[in-house]
Amino acid sequence: MSIQRPKGTQDILPGTVEKWQYLEDTIRTVCREYGYEEIRTPMFEATELFQRGVGETTDIVNKEMYTFLDKGERSITLRPELTAAVCRAYAENKLYAWPQPVKLYYIGPMFRYERPQAGRFRQFHQFGIEVLGADKPVVDAEVISLVWTLYQRLGLTGLEVHINSVGCPTCRAEHKDKLLEFLKPHSHELCRDCQDRLERNPMRILDCKNPSCQAFTAGAPTTLDMLCPECKSHFEELQELLKAAGVVYKVDPRLVRGLDYYRKTAFEVLVEEIGAQSAICGGGRYDGLVAEIGGPPTPGIGFAMGMERALAAIEVQNKMPEFEKAGYAMIVALGQQAQRHGFAWVSALRKAGIPASIDLLGRSLKAQLKAADREGVKYALILGEEELNKGMAILRDLRVGEQEEVALNQVVSVLKDKFGEGVNA
Ligand code: ATP
Ligand code: MG
Repeated sequence: MSIQRPKGTQDILPGTVEKWQYLEDTIRTVCREYGYEEIRTPMFEATELFQRGVGETTDIVNKEMYTFLDKGERSITLRPELTAAVCRAYAENKLYAWPQPVKLYYIGPMFRYERPQAGRFRQFHQFGIEVLGADKPVVDAEVISLVWTLYQRLGLTGLEVHINSVGCPTCRAEHKDKLLEFLKPHSHELCRDCQDRLERNPMRILDCKNPSCQAFTAGAPTTLDMLCPECKSHFEELQELLKAAGVVYKVDPRLVRGLDYYRKTAFEVLVEEIGAQSAICGGGRYDGLVAEIGGPPTPGIGFAMGMERALAAIEVQNKMPEFEKAGYAMIVALGQQAQRHGFAWVSALRKAGIPASIDLLGRSLKAQLKAADREGVKYALILGEEELNKGMAILRDLRVGEQEEVALNQVVSVLKDKFGEGVNA
């Protein structure tokens, strides 16, 4: 049987890869405008990094990691997300000695053993940012405003930005007590996962997607009810800043990040049109994380955006631009002598910065012109024996169907002029 790609993975082929490049280019442009620099970390890390940095009680660590022993008997895990790795890199490379805050972004594949379905893959891609070394609400506002700007730049509309505050260890302890008080008498009415969460991480019950749990917890105390003065004023200031930046948001008290090192701001961006997997971006403040993985205490905040889901949103909303094929000129050479000349000219054109190609299959004039047309080439430069003897070539504008004779030694400059016009047009 022929070998197939692993379940939950994708081949991104020409025709689609341009869409990815467009998304990546737009991301890089926005990050540059906001002063974020790219970081690249390994595809795999010590398993312990994710156990500590993502948390033993999460679905990711419990169920979704690709973990194996390497030949040196080390436990290795393919990265399921990048926040923990970026924090590790920050501590390991002493980025805390750089001017703070350090504003980073990344783009790349992540790996999770999940049930593949629309919008859910085993190898998927995330764009994310992390800001380390700053704890003020203006940082949270900048991070959310960056996603907002990106979506606007992509032409997306109707997105919902949900924000919440999960407080700090002080206010959360109080919340946990109140929540347990509320939930304990009815624990048997919760789903099995939530019964487990009751022991390990009760706050996550507020975030359960199971409708019966949702109905049951509708009146449960939320973290917002219990914020300490410091967390409260942080959340209020964040909202003032978001308003000032024109970011439209909704406060969602049920949006939680359950781990100890999460502090204050949590947020998510949803787009209903792409189906059940409607979250295209999730993020939050994680002031305890760098210390958790062995670095100096450092505040941090970031988000990760699912690129497959962002692309789906762009497609659903018909916002994907048309992409031009790279080819601008094609040398159509007839016969061996002409092909040798043509090969020299195609090199000269490329050297002059003009995307150009030459027939590689020894086809007839008709077939070569047909190929040029199919590939959306603008100009065909026809080199036949007769023209060559005269030191000329025929330059045909394939779009309008007109042609002219051009002296061979003028070919590069003539095409360069036309190409330049095209670029500026
Ligand atoms: P979900 O609730 O959809 O499983 P999550 O909470 O696991 O999401 P995060 O870990 O916060 O997601 O990752 C951030 C973003 O990455 C998500 O909002 C989503 O857009 C995307 N994402 C997460 N898991 C996958 C996956 N298996 N396939 C495709 N995209 C994903
Ligand atoms: Mg998930």
